[in-house]
Amino acid sequence: MVKVSKKIILIALLLLVFFIVNGFFLLMITNYIKYDARIVNYTGIVRGSIQRAVKLELCGKDAGEIKEKTDIILELLLEKNYRFRLYGIKDKPFFDSIHELKDKWDILKGKLDAYNKSRDSRVRTDIFVLSEECWSLANTSVFEAQFVSESKFRYMNFVLLGSIVNLFLIILIILMVKKWVHDKLEFSAVYDSLTKCYNRASFYSHLKNEIRRAERYSSSLSVIMLDADYFKEINDNYGHDVGDSVLMGVADICQKSIRKNDYFARVGGEEFAIIALEATLKQAFIIAEKLRIVLSKHIFRYNLHVTVSLGVAQYVKGDTEDDIMKRADIALYKAKHNGRNRVEMEV
Ligand code: GH3
Ligand code: MG
Ligand code: MG
Repeated sequence: MVKVSKKIILIALLLLVFFIVNGFFLLMITNYIKYDARIVNYTGIVRGSIQRAVKLELCGKDAGEIKEKTDIILELLLEKNYRFRLYGIKDKPFFDSIHELKDKWDILKGKLDAYNKSRDSRVRTDIFVLSEECWSLANTSVFEAQFVSESKFRYMNFVLLGSIVNLFLIILIILMVKKWVHDKLEFSAVYDSLTKCYNRASFYSHLKNEIRRAERYSSSLSVIMLDADYFKEINDNYGHDVGDSVLMGVADICQKSIRKNDYFARVGGEEFAIIALEATLKQAFIIAEKLRIVLSKHIFRYNLHVTVSLGVAQYVKGDTEDDIMKRADIALYKAKHNGRNRVEMEV
């Protein structure tokens, strides 16, 4: 179960990384596209402004403002920042065209000034030729910028792929958490959280079943109750954590010492119980005595010695789970009363 929760954390971290990378990538692309759109728009403005400026000046009107704006936009388009934004496949032709356009536009402006002074028809012809060339270059640049911008849309495929991976990881996490919660609930319904052995409820349910089986097949069945001696003193002297680790140790030793198909459970704070299958009172007594000796010899954390008292009772026909448990409890009480660290039976 711990393994599952670690896996969930790992996948959640992976999801977080994917989410951040994907988000950053998306932000970067949308930002690029935004700038690209501006570049396409600016280039289109230059294309129209040059034509308008020529038309106005040839009609004898002042196009100073339009010319100024065109200069500013051309400078802006050639700025390093915009160069970077438009960076992509075949971006070079765009800037080459803009450079060429700017050179031609400078010449065109000179020709317009000259025409304004001279009204020479040869200059006028030059202006027409240059303005046509400017239009053509600006037009090529618009399409070039548009092409570069559109080519960036293919990066959206990575974002889409990243989103699919994110979705997949989210579904995986949901399924894993569901399973983890289910396992945890199932575990705590049957097992004791501290010692990981059966809890009281599942002990009684197993005992009920085993009583039915013993009744049907007339087989022997015994119960052993085990209680740690003077356990309060351990908690008082060494703290609850040490007490807990001793309880885990006791449970571990008991589980390892009994037969695999017998049931071992924690039925109270420092109380445990065993269902000894196919065991008569005498045989259960021997099992209990073995446990008592093993535990009394064991050295726990902080060099601690712990003894246990045990009570044994055998199933007799007609017994309910409470009947047999009551007799085992009486036997345990006797063991305590007779000095602890001992086993007693109750018939
Ligand atoms: P006795 O020999 O008569 O059984 O004495 P005792 O001190 O073991 O019995 P008592 O009933 O007086 O105290 C039981 C102690 O067990 C008190 C309680 O704090 C401790 N205990 C019960 N459950 C836990 C637990 O989960 N962890 C720890 N550390 N201590 C527990
Ligand atoms: Mg006790
Ligand atoms: Mg007790």
